[in-house]
Amino acid sequence: MKRRLAILPAVFTAALLAIPMPMRAADDGKLKLRTVVIDPGHGGHDPGCISRDRKTSEKSLTLDISQRLARKIATAWPDVKVIMTRSDDRYIELEQRAMTANNAGADLFISIHINSVERGTTASGYSVHCLGQSARKGNDLFSKNLDLVKRENSVILLEDDYKTKYQGFDPSDPQSYIFFSLMQNAHLEHSLLFAEDVAQAMGKGPIKKSRGVSQDPFWVLWRTAMPSVLIEVGFITNPDDLAVLRSPESRDRIADNLLKAFSTFKMRYDGTMRVETPDEPGWESETKADTAGVFYGTQVLATGRKMSLDDPFFQGNQAVSVESGRLIKYIVGTSGELEKARDNFRVLRKKYPDSFLVRVQDGRIERIN
Ligand SMILES: [Zn+2]
Repeated sequence: MKRRLAILPAVFTAALLAIPMPMRAADDGKLKLRTVVIDPGHGGHDPGCISRDRKTSEKSLTLDISQRLARKIATAWPDVKVIMTRSDDRYIELEQRAMTANNAGADLFISIHINSVERGTTASGYSVHCLGQSARKGNDLFSKNLDLVKRENSVILLEDDYKTKYQGFDPSDPQSYIFFSLMQNAHLEHSLLFAEDVAQAMGKGPIKKSRGVSQDPFWVLWRTAMPSVLIEVGFITNPDDLAVLRSPESRDRIADNLLKAFSTFKMRYDGTMRVETPDEPGWESETKADTAGVFYGTQVLATGRKMSLDDPFFQGNQAVSVESGRLIKYIVGTSGELEKARDNFRVLRKKYPDSFLVRVQDGRIERIN
């Protein structure tokens, strides 16, 4: 276990260096959602979950729903480039799925999966996941979805040469997950917004039961450099969910729901429509800060959990935390003068490639490009 921990920071650093700065401003300076990557889970010799009667596999359901969604987005938004990580029954490595999105400079990554449970339980419903840690109980880094996370991540064990490629990462070992929560700084807020859009749109059914939005350490989300969510559409092990998933009409309705979520997110992202964040009163309006007035700084992290300001992640820099909705944002290199903060940012971005310059006023954070 110790050995693994010593190796992981190297993976972490390599990952930081490998990921390009993703948010590209359009000509008018506004962010525009132009490219979406849809990722049908599993494929080829990795069937994913299998129904109890062994007649239906996750890989074919995820491909069908993804293809329907891709066609719907292409029709509704002709200017949006839609890329699939696979469009037939083939095995694609997790790392490759994330790299497809990164290399395309995608603005949104949607990974589609189907859930399952052991025999003897009848869990049902859909859930939406962003990167992070959903819970922390003592030394148990996360609890609620650990089985699911381990299972989805364990597909790397099917890859050739996975030991070299994933450098000691062991999907069954909670210690391996420690660094996951520190990524996706720039994208977590948008990821959570899209996740809420998905959760709300999916509520229309045919699978209506929501298991909520949570943050969990999925490898494929960790390696993407854009807002990313993973959707577990329903349970292949639940008879009602399975009946829905086996029906082409129902799969089409699910794809319709996902298109609706995509459209809502895109309009908000592009700034073409003002959309209130669902189920999040006070998302931006009730922010509070440790410091009042105006200051500038480098946002290095956004996360769902509270961190100690002495955490090694801050590398000795004095950090300020600002609560914003369900996220806590951490800002270092702060100054009352923009130019000074910009100088600090030039140094800090070498250590935190995912960071960006922000203006903070009365607890409201605004990104400065
Ligand atoms: Zn899966």
